[in-house]
Amino acid sequence: MHPAALWKALPDGRVSCRLCSHFCRIDVGRRGLCGVRENHDGALYTLVYDRVAAANLDPVEKKPLYHFLPGTTTFSFGTMGCNLSCSFCQNYSLSQPPRQGKAITGERASPADLVAAARRSGAASVSYTYSEPTIFFELMADTADLARAAGLKNILVSNGFQSRQCLDALAGRIDAANIDLKAMRPDFYERICGAKLAPVLKNLVRIRELGWWLEVTTLLIPGVNDSPGELSELAGFLAKELGVDTPWHISRFHPDFAMRDRPPTPPESLAQAYDLGREAGLRYVYVGNVPDQERSTTFCPNCGERLIERQDMGLQAARTAGGRCSSCGAPIAGIGLP
Ligand code: SF4
Repeated sequence: MHPAALWKALPDGRVSCRLCSHFCRIDVGRRGLCGVRENHDGALYTLVYDRVAAANLDPVEKKPLYHFLPGTTTFSFGTMGCNLSCSFCQNYSLSQPPRQGKAITGERASPADLVAAARRSGAASVSYTYSEPTIFFELMADTADLARAAGLKNILVSNGFQSRQCLDALAGRIDAANIDLKAMRPDFYERICGAKLAPVLKNLVRIRELGWWLEVTTLLIPGVNDSPGELSELAGFLAKELGVDTPWHISRFHPDFAMRDRPPTPPESLAQAYDLGREAGLRYVYVGNVPDQERSTTFCPNCGERLIERQDMGLQAARTAGGRCSSCGAPIAGIGLP
């Protein structure tokens, strides 16, 4: 156990966790909704500070981030646990056991160990990912500080359901984020994810204000969140509130966890969502989780030149020069583009 951050004591011995937008009020001896934060005698502790459940070296394109240090690798890790309970979770064996009262497993690894491993691996960055990094905030924050001091960038891959306090505590630590915007219907978040849409929308706008590099992902589920009206609304929100240079990743769904009654997303739905994103004015729209060379390519928004091609979640070819189109010279949005 490790002391938790971002909570306050209540007069009756309960604690109010301020880390995510659930704002759990936790009785003595009990855990919050995520299952990894526990009230011990009126103080809150995290149960995952020293429980790294997955760690890998990934291409940054796998996060997915297509416009942030393309072609580099990122040392990625996560603990068990999540503050959401999405019935379609594609990573439920890592995210859901603590919520179900099951054992929290993982390897003991300190922030210094993790940063040393990242440096040995040759990664350009550290990614907080796999489950939901919000719920391992303390481990993320301490690692991010050491990573930054070692010259590494920090990447947050998240469902965007943090509290405002959590985001602000991460403000000087994170360089880039990929945030899920799972749907534009409040009842989707409430019924299917056990959460709320409004905090996610607010956090996306806040992240834009914080100046992190931001890309957004939507998992397209047949018959659930794939209506043209909803997708146009979602893409319109991205274009209007976050800017047309915000890359939007539309990801293919596979039946998993508690949602096995739906087929995988058909390629034509992904193509339709791609077109709707472009019609909304977004300059960089991508289809993921499926081989689609054309729709994973970056085109110059000015002259249409093919600029950055990707394959197997990695960089294949880049024809930008100093972050500009090699044909017409127009700037291409991003950080560290060739
Ligand atoms: S992180 Fe969120 S879900 Fe977990 S205890 Fe805190 S408020 Fe509750």
